[in-house]
Amino acid sequence: MQTTENARSTTGTRTRVTDVNPQSGMCPICIEECPVLCEVGKSAFRGREVLYPSVESFGTSTASSNKDYLLDWSHFQILAELIGAYGIEPNPDKAFFENADVRSQIASASRHPIKLSIPFVLPGLGSTPVAKRNWESLAKGAAMSGIIQTVGENVCGMDPDATYANGKVVCSPDLEFRIKTYREFWDGKNGEIAVQTNVEDQRGGVDEYALSKLEVNVIERKWGQGAKAIGGEVRLDSVERALELKKRGYLVLPDPEDEAAVEAFKAGAFRTFERHSRVGFPDRRSFVEDVESLRRRGAKYVFLKTGAYRPEVVAFTMKCASEAKIDMLTFDGAGGGTGMSPVPMMNEMSTPTVHLEAQLLSCAKMLRAQGRFVPDLVMAGGFVNETQAYKSMAMSNIGGGPLIKAIGMARAPILTAMKSTYFARMSQEGKLPKSFSDEYTSDPNNFFLMAPEIARKHPRSNVGKDIPWGAVGLYTFLDRVATGLKQLMAGSRKFKLENLARDDICALSTYASQVTGIDTFDAMASRVMPGILESWDD
Ligand code: SF4
Repeated sequence: MQTTENARSTTGTRTRVTDVNPQSGMCPICIEECPVLCEVGKSAFRGREVLYPSVESFGTSTASSNKDYLLDWSHFQILAELIGAYGIEPNPDKAFFENADVRSQIASASRHPIKLSIPFVLPGLGSTPVAKRNWESLAKGAAMSGIIQTVGENVCGMDPDATYANGKVVCSPDLEFRIKTYREFWDGKNGEIAVQTNVEDQRGGVDEYALSKLEVNVIERKWGQGAKAIGGEVRLDSVERALELKKRGYLVLPDPEDEAAVEAFKAGAFRTFERHSRVGFPDRRSFVEDVESLRRRGAKYVFLKTGAYRPEVVAFTMKCASEAKIDMLTFDGAGGGTGMSPVPMMNEMSTPTVHLEAQLLSCAKMLRAQGRFVPDLVMAGGFVNETQAYKSMAMSNIGGGPLIKAIGMARAPILTAMKSTYFARMSQEGKLPKSFSDEYTSDPNNFFLMAPEIARKHPRSNVGKDIPWGAVGLYTFLDRVATGLKQLMAGSRKFKLENLARDDICALSTYASQVTGIDTFDAMASRVMPGILESWDD
């Protein structure tokens, strides 16, 4: 495996030669007069700054780890079926992939489950600039696609126009905007908009404000994310902003009240302050009481999002979620992304997604055996397409249909919003790459495949203006993912998501099988083939 210890694109570093020491990542001969910035070398100048994804791209990029975890969704293969069909009449005129049903639901135990047109959610896109810059596209694209979107943590705290009274938020135009933009294109039947709250948000009364003033139906508590096991962080590019955020209770580094730090900032020694959120210390009893209190205060649904903590914590989280009977529990595995997380932490810490899913399924089995409630689950952490979604959901069917009701994706949707906005701008400026415009024309109404459908569905809205091109791009991407999922389902003759089963996938290695309990091809073959050839009664 290629080492990333001393050179990675995420920190903007490379080595002088490529045949590096496989353990340290250093050039085998490290020379005195080397002009190249490897990670150790760059750290001699920029120190702690090198812990983070390239500072220059902050706000206009997302970042993830680039480590090979030796087990991912590509280590499983989806099985194709020929005989019979599930969820549809086995009739050649009916068993067409377009007829596969990819609708799902969350809070399925409640009297009013949240319907999803497709089994995806956009989890926790909050105050980080890349989420804010692309919010309108993401919210409108998610709403038009009938999926859940969550406003991530710290939005009120970071809102420069927010008003606080006695430490509690009483007005946040930004949070209001986030909810309004989603609802503008929400059909009121499929999907929902949730507000996520962390330690600072709870202290600042964000849940109360969202429930009472903005009439939000869903509050999500946040215990973590897959990319890092410390609180959320963003960069602040002025002393005034750093001071404001410190005043609102955030941890700001360096201290903007320290004159020496301010002088260094003004002299250009560093260009941004870091704003950090606190980590919480969940306790089972108080979590259950908190969920009850949220419900009493008007939350129709309560979600929980957590990261990729150690196995005991996975079990603890499932226990808490079961007892509190929460409506949706999202586990976010290592391998996913973020607006800003320390690069070494993204690479080297937390449980990769497939391992995490295997752990939470073991917990679900134990809860089931005890006759306890298992909440609807969402898996996140590096998902970008329908094949991964299929495998994750199929793996989670431990009886009675997949426990994983939807897949959380953040980086891929942000990518579609950024790319679409950029290409639409290049089209306006006549700067589209020639190869692109030759192939797809230079008119966004043509080069976005789904633009005509969106215009037809929303005749009173101007596509490209009321519906930004970023939203069109997200919608178009999600249509591809949904169509791809339908094709895979039809290929395995499973026409409803509830039909997806663990034996619809095979492990490509004994290690993948050992971790997940999914059969390897040879194990499955020796299990099922004799039964077919030994019986001739059919
Ligand atoms: S400083 Fe040494 S290890 Fe780093 S790139 Fe130069 S030669 Fe290689």
